[in-house]
Amino acid sequence: MPANVYYDHDADTALIADKRVAILGYGSQGHAHALNLRDSGVDVVVGLREGSASRAKAEAAGLRVLPTAEAVRGADIVMVLLPDTEQKKVYETDIAPNLADGNSLAFAHGFNIHFGQITPPAGVDVWMIAPKGPGHLVRRTYEEGGGVPCLVAVANDATGKAKQTALAYAKAIGGTRAGVLDTTFEEETETDLFGEQVVLCGGLVELIRNGFETLVEAGYQPESAYFETLHEVKLIVDLIYEGGIAAMNYSISDTAEYGEMTRGPRIITPQTKDEMRRILAEIRSGEFAKEWIAENEQGRPNFDRLREEAAKHPIEEVGARLRAMMPWISAGKAKVQDVSGG
Ligand code: NAD
Ligand code: MG
Repeated sequence: MPANVYYDHDADTALIADKRVAILGYGSQGHAHALNLRDSGVDVVVGLREGSASRAKAEAAGLRVLPTAEAVRGADIVMVLLPDTEQKKVYETDIAPNLADGNSLAFAHGFNIHFGQITPPAGVDVWMIAPKGPGHLVRRTYEEGGGVPCLVAVANDATGKAKQTALAYAKAIGGTRAGVLDTTFEEETETDLFGEQVVLCGGLVELIRNGFETLVEAGYQPESAYFETLHEVKLIVDLIYEGGIAAMNYSISDTAEYGEMTRGPRIITPQTKDEMRRILAEIRSGEFAKEWIAENEQGRPNFDRLREEAAKHPIEEVGARLRAMMPWISAGKAKVQDVSGG
């Protein structure tokens, strides 16, 4: 069954015209939501912690900035665009004491609601508008007259208007120009984690590193290995993004296509797929969430060690050298967080 997709004519910004929206956080998503809402005529205030480095930036863009608790107190809709690992703490100290019945508590990712880290009171609408793209694109496409597709979900409908309020918000940030797809907090959270762990980040990075290592260990130049196993990934992914796998196959040589069809299944084997199922099960049972929450509570010892190790991989040194000779590659690139969809 095809999913419901909402467009501009399905949403009415009049529903939020007399409401104040507090945007908490002014990072990748925060700056884009705040500016798009403001430009759509919505009353916006940005909530930041004391001493936030983002304060000057938000004020320079003409936005009103308040301490988080005060921003929540004066708002009808509170959109939480803080790092997912910070949300529980900020919810308990600054958000919960200042929420009133009939308010909306909104998210761009379902993690904290779905895994029970945040449990809002029954009188508050809880919904999600999750742009399926980085914040700088949410802003840029809006300014160009377009938008980034979004997901909409409602976890609690206290007012009976949660879904329509969420769609009005999506319209004001440009989402309904591109399409807003119905989902649930459960589906958004679980598919997002699965995608980043198995395909987009975890799977892809291991594929690249192991391919690079295999060539270098066999005596090939690291520069050749870098171009073959990392640089060209973008060229192939662009073709897949534009026309699907079939169109990519149309563009590559028959030799490449034959190699793909006969060798690909030897790399991603039935055992690999079994492991994908195990990873999905860990996500669905909450085991992954529990592990990641505990890791944060302990001050991220494993995260920091793994990050340090990854940075020392030879592919980083070769890559830095080669990319320095191709300055157009990084010109205008957005901040690193922008590559992760949630
Ligand atoms: P970010 O890291 O870019 O920005 C977070 C903001 O919160 C920054 O302004 C930071 O200074 C501020 N902040 C950090 N700790 C804080 C604290 N303790 N108290 C107050 N403010 C604090 O985050 P982001 O990538 O914009 O993510 C925000 C939400 O959007 C997350 O739920 C994420 O999953 C979701 N999301 C992100 C993307 C993306 O492409 N980045 C896409 C879809 C959804
Ligand atoms: Mg994502």
